[in-house]
Amino acid sequence: MSELIKELQGTKIAIFDLDGVIYRGKDLIPNVDKNIQRLKDKSIKIAYNSNNSTATRQTYADLLKKFNISSKPSDFYTSASITSEEITRIKPNSNIFVIGEIGLREELKAKGHKIIHSESDYSKVDFVIVGLDREFNYHNLAMAQRCILEGKALFYATNDDATLPVKNRFLPGAGVMVKAVEVCTGIKPITTFGKPQPTGIELILQENNISPERALMFGDRLNTDIIAGNRAGVKTILVLTGVTSPKMMEEIKNNPNIDKELLPNMIIDNLDAIFEKKN
Ligand SMILES: [Mg+2]
Repeated sequence: MSELIKELQGTKIAIFDLDGVIYRGKDLIPNVDKNIQRLKDKSIKIAYNSNNSTATRQTYADLLKKFNISSKPSDFYTSASITSEEITRIKPNSNIFVIGEIGLREELKAKGHKIIHSESDYSKVDFVIVGLDREFNYHNLAMAQRCILEGKALFYATNDDATLPVKNRFLPGAGVMVKAVEVCTGIKPITTFGKPQPTGIELILQENNISPERALMFGDRLNTDIIAGNRAGVKTILVLTGVTSPKMMEEIKNNPNIDKELLPNMIIDNLDAIFEKKN
């Protein structure tokens, strides 16, 4: 059995970002399936932590199955599932107006919350929750504004990514919708639950009863994955298979004014590098 490199021995859980770490667009990153299996063979627990709130956890489990990686929906912690978990702690069975997609709505409904659609119900809304919505429109923005300014709704967000990387280009991210609500209400979200906040990683550690020193966070993005991991106190590993290129990383390391929270504990070209090479 292949051993983990010395620095990573004692690991109990490996947490992976999805896009740029497990797959890129519709393609599995080479060897990731085998490397995940090697970790499982060593009884290391696997969890996935993504800022994408648009898909359900079952959809992610189905997607990984296509890549020959077996997983359960409960292995995934998306910004939608994390938000739903935290909102339930704040107020169970609440009335929620959502700017977002099916992943967010389904997670909230699964926890017993009611999704409000009708504008006449604005005064009943407890929370306005904003995530990525690729059918974002003026009408929904006006409803969110009304719930917050004229009703009693508190404003929360799933994540504030500026961009959404898709094949060879960028699209607007959830942060654009969050800003729109912020600008028309003059109110900032009380909490944004996704990365770079450590909420998701902390939830994973808590649910698995594992201390941060025994956990690894693998990510391809410094300003979300790596900051979140550093804030949660886990070992952070930047994988150069996604949005951060070796050249970008060199520039960052050589910048004396760089925010230390952005720096990973380890940088690897791909997941093969976490195992000892056999002679
Ligand atoms: Mg990523």
